[in-house]
Amino acid sequence: MIRKILENIFVIGTGITSNSVLVCGKKSCVLFDTTLFVEKAEKIKKFAREATGREITAVFNTHYHPDHTFGNAAFERVIGHALTREKMKMMDQSYLNELGVGAKIHLPTETFKEEHVYEVDDIVVEAYHFGGHTPDSSVYLLRNSKVLICGDLLMNGVHAEVVHDSDLERWIEALDSAKKTNAEIFVPGHGEIAALDDLERMKEYLMKLMRLRRGEISPQQILEDENFSKRKYPELFGWSVRNVFFTVP
Ligand SMILES: [Zn+2]
Repeated sequence: MIRKILENIFVIGTGITSNSVLVCGKKSCVLFDTTLFVEKAEKIKKFAREATGREITAVFNTHYHPDHTFGNAAFERVIGHALTREKMKMMDQSYLNELGVGAKIHLPTETFKEEHVYEVDDIVVEAYHFGGHTPDSSVYLLRNSKVLICGDLLMNGVHAEVVHDSDLERWIEALDSAKKTNAEIFVPGHGEIAALDDLERMKEYLMKLMRLRRGEISPQQILEDENFSKRKYPELFGWSVRNVFFTVP
């Protein structure tokens, strides 16, 4: 599903699949996250060419998870946090085969450590490393259009994906930092385009998971809260709850 959110900015994703963001400048386009499949990334390339007459000349990764990076192989210039590159280096081909993905791992070719500003054509991208969902989780601010690409730090209408290397406290801080950027539109890793109060809802969600970990509330009590019960993909919730107890308190 392709949604045009602003002139020359498109969000591609379905909810359960990750969102990719295509931004087109005067002469070229950039893409944020590359999906799980190189074939799908190729389709996005074709869409960019046909809809805008421009080529994707740079790709950014929000974090190392396969559904955000395995389409990297369709591109040459890939930008990501240094830790994203390190994490991806640890994946081997057998892991891809297990996932049934025929792609080759293509690591970021350029990395940043803290804040960095990239200028591609007339597109200005501010890169920030926040951590939280994963140690390498990064967000990208499109300076001219006030759009913040949040990766899986933000899930909108969909349960959060808490993984073995998530840090809930840091994740909450990351959402506070995201709020302090001057962004007005927030693109989540999965789900619908979000506004400032969706960030607050995500923060409340994570705070409740922390209360669950401390034994202050039960999983049943959590599901009575609409911030949980109305989110899609409850199977993801069960999996995340198990991980909540494995992440370091
Ligand atoms: Zn993720």
